[in-house]
Amino acid sequence: MAEQPRADKATTSPLTAVKGMNDILPASVPRSEKLPDSALWHWFDGVVRSVLARYGYQYIVTPVVEPTALFVRGLGEVTDIVEKEMYSFTDAMNGDKLTLRPEATAGIVRAMVEHNALYNGPLRLWTMGPMFRHERPQKGRYRQFHQLDVEALGFAGPDVDAEMILMARTLCRELGLVDGTHVRLELNSLGQPAERRAHREALVRHFEQQAALLDGEAQRRLHSNPLRILDSKNPAMQPLIEAAPRLLDFLGPESLAHFDALRATLDAAGVGYRINPRLVRGMDYYNLTVFEWVTDQLGSQGTVCGGGRYDGLIEQIGGKPAPAVGFGLGIERLLLLIQELGLPVPGGAPAAYAVVPDAATLPRVAPVLETLRAAGVSVLMHAGGGAMKSQFKKADASGARHALIFGADELARGVVAIKPLRDAGAAQRSEPIAEAARWAASLLTP
Ligand code: ATP
Ligand code: MG
Repeated sequence: MAEQPRADKATTSPLTAVKGMNDILPASVPRSEKLPDSALWHWFDGVVRSVLARYGYQYIVTPVVEPTALFVRGLGEVTDIVEKEMYSFTDAMNGDKLTLRPEATAGIVRAMVEHNALYNGPLRLWTMGPMFRHERPQKGRYRQFHQLDVEALGFAGPDVDAEMILMARTLCRELGLVDGTHVRLELNSLGQPAERRAHREALVRHFEQQAALLDGEAQRRLHSNPLRILDSKNPAMQPLIEAAPRLLDFLGPESLAHFDALRATLDAAGVGYRINPRLVRGMDYYNLTVFEWVTDQLGSQGTVCGGGRYDGLIEQIGGKPAPAVGFGLGIERLLLLIQELGLPVPGGAPAAYAVVPDAATLPRVAPVLETLRAAGVSVLMHAGGGAMKSQFKKADASGARHALIFGADELARGVVAIKPLRDAGAAQRSEPIAEAARWAASLLTP
């Protein structure tokens, strides 16, 4: 029997988030799943902005919803994403076929083609935001997740390929992740379409000879997209994959020269890497350089960042042919890694907590707090009254370094008491309120 909506409990039960889509919350909000808190996100955001600016990349924002055809055409019809991971729907208002973006590259390329943006020369761009894939939610894999996405359009490389990889390393380093220890670089070249065709034939022959050993997925891929068989995570398939012909052995002199020039720059910059001949990436649009930054700390969701060259995509989406390279970095995975490693992260605690024993004095206190904030000091104001003891408890819990006490005594004398909260040995002192701006400086230095 069909379930009937019940007037009592069912209609009043709280609504929850869509499965696999998470709230990003302050650390003070307890949650069952161990996900990075909002302070971590906020800090990451600042580091990203700073690093990308230093490499001369410009910020752009494109829509979260795009025409479905963009991804089908851009990513390839037989990719995992297009076959089974896209949130696609028909706009009930006008019948348009739309999709929540599963990745950012196709949308950025669409925007640049639409605005004829490469007319004045190549562009270095970045964006950050939510992506959507209908996958089985697990640690490091969600249905709404977030990416930092970086694209350099109109550059043939390999100089910019190297720049991308070095930039990702800088970002990791400034977040406390050491390359070679916490994250490792894997590198491959997918060559050019003609080289891939020759390799593909050899690959199909190899797998056909062992057809009995192929799993269902591989059998399906054998003639549609055999390269993707190399990306299979099925352990039983690994020996067959190990023995498969390597694409690298099919590269001609130009592709090899591109790969060697990239490697020379990485070597000179001291970037360690492993050449992984089976690194193929999930989208069809890649050629030449492909790379991934991986970690062993996140189980099977070990790829933190992946990218490569996609010289054919701009033309495929309707633009004038132009080469390009880019990467997508999974923010949840990166922050989980930082959290898991227990790396030091600057907290979001305020510098000071204002204890206001008598709420009636607020008209005198508020302007002082404004002066402090104008001087750059973060002050959390106690709100809602209550006993001194409970106000101090809150001050402690806030993580602030100092409590500023605006008691009746202090206000009568025109001073504020400053009580260090984190340094047990330090003595309480008083400062004249009239000089709020001056003593603010002393609060800024720990
Ligand atoms: P995977 O092999 O883990 O499925 P992918 O090849 O599908 O990754 P890309 O399309 O290259 O991933 O996306 C770039 C990065 O985005 C990934 O390296 C990963 O860090 C992150 N990412 C991809 N899918 C998800 C997801 N469902 N949840 C969280 N992060 C994801
Ligand atoms: Mg995937």
